[in-house]
Amino acid sequence: MFNLAEDADLTHEQRLLRENVAHFLRHEVAPTVAGYEAKGGFDWSLPGRLREYGYLGGFLTEEEGGFGLSHFDYALLMEEAGYCWHSLRATLNTMNMAALLLASLGTAEQKARYLAPLLAGDLRVWVGITEPDHGSNVAGMETRARRDGDDYVINGTKMWITNGAIAELGILMARVVPEAEGEPAGITAFLVDRGQTSYTARRLETMILRSTVTSELSFVDARVPAGNVLGEVGEGLRSILRGLNFGRLSVAAGAVGAAQAALDLSIEYAKTRRQFGKPIASYQLIQKMVVDMKVRTDAARQLVRRAANALDRGSPGRMECSVAKLYAAQAAHEVADLALQVHGGMGYSKDYPIERIFRDTRGAVIPEGTSEIQTLIIGRDLLGISAFSV
Ligand SMILES: Cc1cc2nc3c(=O)[nH]c(=O)nc-3n(C[C@H](O)[C@H](O)[C@H](O)COP(=O)(O)OP(=O)(O)OC[C@H]3O[C@@H](n4cnc5c(N)ncnc54)[C@H](O)[C@@H]3O)c2cc1C
Repeated sequence: MFNLAEDADLTHEQRLLRENVAHFLRHEVAPTVAGYEAKGGFDWSLPGRLREYGYLGGFLTEEEGGFGLSHFDYALLMEEAGYCWHSLRATLNTMNMAALLLASLGTAEQKARYLAPLLAGDLRVWVGITEPDHGSNVAGMETRARRDGDDYVINGTKMWITNGAIAELGILMARVVPEAEGEPAGITAFLVDRGQTSYTARRLETMILRSTVTSELSFVDARVPAGNVLGEVGEGLRSILRGLNFGRLSVAAGAVGAAQAALDLSIEYAKTRRQFGKPIASYQLIQKMVVDMKVRTDAARQLVRRAANALDRGSPGRMECSVAKLYAAQAAHEVADLALQVHGGMGYSKDYPIERIFRDTRGAVIPEGTSEIQTLIIGRDLLGISAFSV
């Protein structure tokens, strides 16, 4: 097992935080994961119970309702969440993206109404950006919002939205169409309260993140009060872009955790599984696989920490976050693939966590910017030429 106490990069406080979180997740949560995954359910008491560790908006200031945690601290938390259960990390990530948007753009009234219960773990939330025809190309989104009296009228469809069908609150990105010349327009964030706005939601069955409710949301003349605009009209795309590096750090850190879990399980299995009269750990080919897993996991962790440090220094961290996300997401799935090989037939069994880790690590290369998009971002920074729209 990854020895928490020997992690020399951490301060005393960070080591304590990590040990406490790891203890809670591994004893209170890990034994329940298989049961929830089997029925596609989730333990909604968890976000509230994890709040005290900083998992819900812990990175916000104390005035905003957080604990002032650094990005480095947050990456540690997300690594532990990823070690335990990818659906938990993804759910916390969505809640934190929403918390970040509310804290930075919300009015005092919006914060009192939505941020406070969100940070208490009492409010489930979705963030809707992707559409059926616009995934990587966020700026092309077609969902429309037209002002009508005291409301905006929304028409369009959002796709692959985490927890969309069950959450009480959504943050919807839609393009405001001006009724008259000179009116404010452009991609805008709206607070969509399930109690106020009528829309249809359909759960999508996916290979990954089976305990999140991945959804398609359809808005047909759906009315959202104008007071639910979050930030300024036309400011939505900028706020999405501002939150992207934070999301990438979370996915990358979660991928490192999943890789570490796959490595730990493989070491344990290789030492106990016997073939040809000896533990399979004694065979050089098995040791090679375990060593490859270790090298990739350690390298990914260092890239994640470099990205977190860049954000903590106040740098935009775009290059560091993209490199970390690109490498860690791919490395985690390669590690999980090797882990499956070490486990032989047992690796495919739903009775064993490797099967879930293998599926969920495949997922990390798509959300928060696919591997191709991260490559284009890094290439643009290195070469000074954008290959996005050639
Ligand atoms: C389980 C899950 C949960 C999700 N949760 C959310 C959520 O909560 N909210 C939300 O808004 N979205 C969510 N998403 C959507 C996710 O962000 C998108 O799937 C992702 O951005 C990619 O978009 P796409 O699926 O439309 O793929 P596309 O953009 O259609 O890409 C298809 C392929 O083309 C490649 N590609 C695209 N453009 C280029 C280019 N210029 N050059 C080279 N290659 C390119 C991509 O890398 C990919 O390989 C979720 C997705 C999944 C799978």
